[in-house]
Formats: sequence, C-alpha cells, structure tokens
Amino acid sequence: MEKLIACCGIDCVSCDARTATINNDNELREKTAEKWRIQFNSPEISLEMINCTGCREAGVKFGHCEECEIRNCVKSKGFETCGDCDELDSCAIVGNILQYVPEGKANLRSLKK
Ligand code: SF4
Ligand code: SF4
Repeated sequence: MEKLIACCGIDCVSCDARTATINNDNELREKTAEKWRIQFNSPEISLEMINCTGCREAGVKFGHCEECEIRNCVKSKGFETCGDCDELDSCAIVGNILQYVPEGKANLRSLKK
C-alpha cells in the first residue's frame, strides 16, 4: 500500500489511470483520457496512453509519469520519494505539483513513520 504513494506525494490508489489499468476498463480509459486532455491541456492524450500501475510500482507507466522530472530526480538521488529529501520544503520542482495536491506532503511524511 505504501508504495502507492508516488515520488511527488500523489496517492496512485485514487488515480483513474491506475484503476482502468488494473481492471482493463476501456470505458474508464476513454473517460480519463477525455478528462486529462482538458485538465492538462494535452489534446494528444489517447485511450491507449491510459495505462499505469503506479509511480513506484513495477509495470507500465503513463507516458508523462515515465518522463517525470520529479521521479527522475528522486531516482538520481537514490531516494524512494521526495519525502527522503531535505529540500522538500523549498524545492520548486515538486512544489509545482504540491501546490495542486494539498495532501501530498502529508502523504510523503506518512511514509517515514
Ligand atoms: S504514476 Fe500512474 S497511477 Fe500514479 S498518478 Fe501518475 S498516472 Fe496515476
Ligand atoms: S530536489 Fe526536489 S524533486 Fe528532487 S528529490 Fe528533492 S524534493 Fe524531490
């Protein structure tokens, strides 16, 4: 369960892409693609791209998560998540996401308990 907190603090359990992948649910894939095309201003997102088992889980990743600057930074420093990093409170990279995910920091800190 803990591994389903992403490097940035997002809870992958509540992500529709993961749910659609686990259940192989094309209806949810299409709904998610439609929602994300608007939400992230990314008209290129297709049903086929909605496949992800979670940021820190083995298996397929949604393309944007595979290329994620935060995920790559965490990996390059040998951390599990940004929760292991002393720069968490001042970091602009993860800060860009955390401003939209109010529970993110608490999720990261909960991993250290
Ligand atoms: S890593 Fe995958 S499951 Fe987690 S938030 Fe990103 S798309 Fe969703
Ligand atoms: S520098 Fe920022 S993005 Fe990189 S591990 Fe630390 S908090 Fe995360």
